[in-house]
Amino acid sequence: MHVETLGDGRPRYTVVACVHGDETCGWHAFNRLKASDVSLHEPVKFVLANERAFKLGYRFCDADLNRVMPGDPESEQHEVRLAASLQRELEGTTVIDFHSTESRGCPYAIVAGGDAASRRLARSTGLDRMVDMSPLGGGATEHVTGVAVECGYYDDEDAASVAHRILLHFLAAEGLVDRPYARSTPEVYEVFDDAPGRGFTFVAKNFRRVEKEEVFAEKDDTVRRAETAFYPVLMSTHGYDDRIGFKARRAGRVEEV
Ligand SMILES: [Zn+2]
Repeated sequence: MHVETLGDGRPRYTVVACVHGDETCGWHAFNRLKASDVSLHEPVKFVLANERAFKLGYRFCDADLNRVMPGDPESEQHEVRLAASLQRELEGTTVIDFHSTESRGCPYAIVAGGDAASRRLARSTGLDRMVDMSPLGGGATEHVTGVAVECGYYDDEDAASVAHRILLHFLAAEGLVDRPYARSTPEVYEVFDDAPGRGFTFVAKNFRRVEKEEVFAEKDDTVRRAETAFYPVLMSTHGYDDRIGFKARRAGRVEEV
């Protein structure tokens, strides 16, 4: 794990990149911020979380870091130990955690903790969609006040540019830099179930309603039909080994907070 702070003093905010080592958009966004002449009103901490996987170009080495928080410092597994260090690094700060993805439908915000303070942060991203993962739990931001953002397709240039734009917007909306911003009122997609499966082709569209009985995934001669209507979230053909993605319901907008 690589940690550095821009500015002097004790940071209240932490920017996290590479919880998944092959999702480099947050790393590029941070470096662009560092190289720019934007002046920060207070210090900001930056954490390159899974540095080992990042250097190898892997998502992870032993275990998915996002699924093993808050970890165990005594574990044999790299990511389980790392999760404990990352948790210590994040505690007591407000967190924005950058991801990119195999699935389509970016960019959007994700909250995992379900608390009002984290939902408020989703508004500071300026994004129009927020996925509420709190019913299932998990993720680096579950045990802190924080928001994750899915910026685009893996480590392509566009995801890095989107990440940089979101980072600047977030810092402006939180009062850390002087720039124009417009806090959003994101539509909320509340995750209620995952869609397990291996080797399926996802044939629906993220954030577009799948009706009851509609086919949303196919494999050879098998199809997956919706038992009840849902909105696909983070669904893709190759994104996960063990699941197609998640099922969500619409739950209004994040109110003015
Ligand atoms: Zn990720």
